[in-house]
Amino acid sequence: MSVFEHPEFDRHQQVVFGSDAASGLRAIIAIHDTTRGPALGGLRIYPYASEADALTDVLRLSRGMSYKSAMAGLSLGGGKAVIIADPHTEKTPAMLQAMGRLVESLGGRYITAEDSGSGEADMQIIAEETSHVSGLAQSGEDSGDPSPYTAWGVFCALKSAVRHGLGRSELEGLRVAVQGVGQVGAHLARHLHAAGAQLVLTDVNRQALALLAEELGAEAVAPEAIFDADVDLFAPCAMGAVLDEDIVERLKARVICGAANNQLATPEIADRLMARGILYTPDYVANAGGVMDIAGQRLDGHDHDAAMRRIEGIGTTLDELFARAAREDSSPAQIADIMARERFGRG
Ligand code: NAD
Repeated sequence: MSVFEHPEFDRHQQVVFGSDAASGLRAIIAIHDTTRGPALGGLRIYPYASEADALTDVLRLSRGMSYKSAMAGLSLGGGKAVIIADPHTEKTPAMLQAMGRLVESLGGRYITAEDSGSGEADMQIIAEETSHVSGLAQSGEDSGDPSPYTAWGVFCALKSAVRHGLGRSELEGLRVAVQGVGQVGAHLARHLHAAGAQLVLTDVNRQALALLAEELGAEAVAPEAIFDADVDLFAPCAMGAVLDEDIVERLKARVICGAANNQLATPEIADRLMARGILYTPDYVANAGGVMDIAGQRLDGHDHDAAMRRIEGIGTTLDELFARAAREDSSPAQIADIMARERFGRG
C-alpha cells in the first residue's frame, strides 16, 4: 500500500499510522496542510474492510478539511483521523485514551473533534490524554452539537444563492424542497419557515418527517418524489453523491444549497448543472458553520452570538464566489476549489 503514490495523496504533509496492542487501536491521522494553522478535522470510527480503504478515506477527508477551513476564513489547516473499528462493538475507553496519546504525540499539529462513529463522550475520554481536542461541551447550555451552527450557515449561504440565482432578496414565498430532516435539515427548515418560505420536506424516517411537516405546516412527500417537486430551491441535507446525471435532469429548482457533504456524484456534474442554468452552492462552503463554531470555541469560548455572527460571513464569501464564477464563466464548484487553494498557498 503506497502512500506517496496514492491517488488521494495530494501532497499531504504528514500521514501517521498508530497502534496500541493493549487496546487494539489501529488508527491513521492525515495532515494535509498546515499553512493556515494547525490541522483541524474529526475522528471517524468505522469498521473499514481494509487498511487501504481507511487510508483512502482519511486522505480524502483530510484534504477536504483544508478546503473547508480555508473558505471559512479560519486560521486552521486540514486534517482528519480514522480508527479502524466498529464504533458500536469495538470502541473502548482504553482505545480512545490510546488515540488521545497518539494525537498528543503530534504536539498540536492536529486537533481532533467528533465525526461519524465518535461523539462528545468519546472526546471527553480523548481529552484525558491530550488538550488538542475540540467540540467539547462547556459548562452552561451549549451541548457541543454543531448542527444548529451548520444549519445557520446553510441558511446564510442560501440567502446569497437566492440573490445570485434568482435575483431576489426576500425568502417570503420562496418554494424550497428539503431532503432529510435530521439534525441540520430540521433546523434549516425552521429558519426557512420563520422567513416565510413554503416547504416541501422528505425523509426516510417517516415519523420525523410527519412531526416536522405538521409543526411547520409543510408538505411531506416520499423520498423519491422530492426531486420532482415544483420548487425554486433544492436543499440536500441527507447524504452524499445525491446529484447525479439523472437527478440533475429531473430537478425543477434553479438553485441548490444544502448541508450534505460531497453532493456532486462526480466533478463533471458541476458543469451539467451550469448547462441547465442551475446555480449550485459548493457544499463545503455552505456547510462550514459547524467547523466555524468548533474553531471559534478555541478563540472565544462558547459565545453563541459571536459564533452566529462569524457564520454569517459564509454569505459574504459566497457573494464573492458567485460573482467571480459569473465573471469567469466557471462553475461555482470550480471557483470554490480555486479560491481555497489560493488561500492555503497552492493556487
Ligand atoms: P442526520 O443523520 O441527523 O440527518 C440526515 C437525515 O437524512 C436523517 O433524518 C435520515 O433519515 C435522512 N435520510 C437518509 N437517507 C435519506 C434519503 N435517501 N432520503 C431522504 N432522507 C434521507 O445528519 P445531519 O447531522 O443532519 O447531517 C446531514 C448532512 O449534512 C450529512 O450529509 C452530513 O454529513 C452533513 N453535515 C452535517 C454537519 C453537522 O453539523 N451535523 C456539518 C457538515 C455537514
